Amino acid sequence: MKIQESGLVFSRLGIKNTRQRAMVFDLLKNTDTLLTAEQIYYVLRSRDENINLSTVYRILELFVSKGIIKKLNIPNENVSAFEMNRPEHRHHLICMKCKKVIPIGECPFKSLEKSLRETTEFDITGHNLEVFGYCPECKHKSQMQ
Ligand SMILES: [Zn+2]
Ligand SMILES: [Zn+2]
Repeated sequence: MKIQESGLVFSRLGIKNTRQRAMVFDLLKNTDTLLTAEQIYYVLRSRDENINLSTVYRILELFVSKGIIKKLNIPNENVSAFEMNRPEHRHHLICMKCKKVIPIGECPFKSLEKSLRETTEFDITGHNLEVFGYCPECKHKSQMQ
């Protein structure tokens, strides 16, 4: 039997390995952008008709609590999006209207962190930045109205 990365991660963290947990893990691992619980549910439902949205939510909350994934709240929208917690972190541009998420290639804070470390003697462990706005399509649509 092929050993899945999800199985290794789950056993390291003491989580029971289930098929649905492995499906959520693999989907997020192979996705480059943030996904909402609904988006994850729609993709997985086509592979497993027994999965339901509340199961997806429970799996996501478990993964967040174990540090496998990160949760990002989209302001004013009551929506959360999720992504793999990768060592090589990313920032995103997020459209508030269509929820499109575009990764920003470079982290702009590497030199800022370095100078903060020097000036404040803080032991900096990380940072968070997401950029919100309206994508060209949504901007265009609202101008037409
Ligand atoms: Zn948009
Ligand atoms: Zn960064």
